[in-house]
Amino acid sequence: MRITVMTLFAEMFDSFLQTSIVGRSLERGLASVDFVNYRDFAHDNYRHVDDTPFGGGNGMVMKCAPVMEALDSIRTEDSYVIMMNPAGTPLNQKKVRELAQKKHLVIMCGHYEGMDARIENHIDECISIGDYVLTGGEPAAMIVMDSVIRLLPGAIKEGSADDESYENGLLEYPQYTQPADFNGEKVPEVLLSGNHAKIKAWRLYQSLERTKKIRPDLYDAYELSKEEKKLLKKYGFESEKQ
Ligand code: SAM
Repeated sequence: MRITVMTLFAEMFDSFLQTSIVGRSLERGLASVDFVNYRDFAHDNYRHVDDTPFGGGNGMVMKCAPVMEALDSIRTEDSYVIMMNPAGTPLNQKKVRELAQKKHLVIMCGHYEGMDARIENHIDECISIGDYVLTGGEPAAMIVMDSVIRLLPGAIKEGSADDESYENGLLEYPQYTQPADFNGEKVPEVLLSGNHAKIKAWRLYQSLERTKKIRPDLYDAYELSKEEKKLLKKYGFESEKQ
């Protein structure tokens, strides 16, 4: 997969692209990342890429010409172009999975008050990372890149993303590691039992309870399969969804 980031501040990505799973994945060639600077497509000697908003108001708006010319310089027929935008479609794991299938993902970062609205007519979609406003699209682009790159085959151990939060519609169950007793706080007995079916049932029950408390919207939408109902019943876990 190729990822092109359109930004005024490529240096913000330096350590992100060299660190941990993202860094290793790039080193192994699972993805490549390149940058385009809008300023290289500015039309005046001062290399302006923004101007005041029509109709008045605070701040500056990024102009169509530099952004569109920057896009045209790297766009191919394989490109899927997203704009980071707080007014976009909320990012979730399903969308991340979709984006991970693209051959060439182009990520446009806005700055200042955002982009001239006409640019949206020339891209595939606007994506928001949450209901809050950042200074610029760069941290949002890193979130998209991180969540996409870890799904590329070979980035993490096969199957280890499968039962994580949001993958199957529920939040993940609680995880524990050594020691089994931390200053009197004990790991749930069932996890030390070696009974894999019972552990599976307990984890499913914990996922259900956690999701119900923290994300009732996801909980309401979740339907237990026949096998899941049987598993919970067999080990005495009672969920109102059974
Ligand atoms: N005036 C815009 C508004 O109210 O919707 C906010 C512009 S924001 C200060 C500047 C840039 O940061 C945006 O163009 C976008 O690229 C990025 N950004 C800010 N918050 C974001 C979010 N929640 N998700 C994705 N991108 C965001």
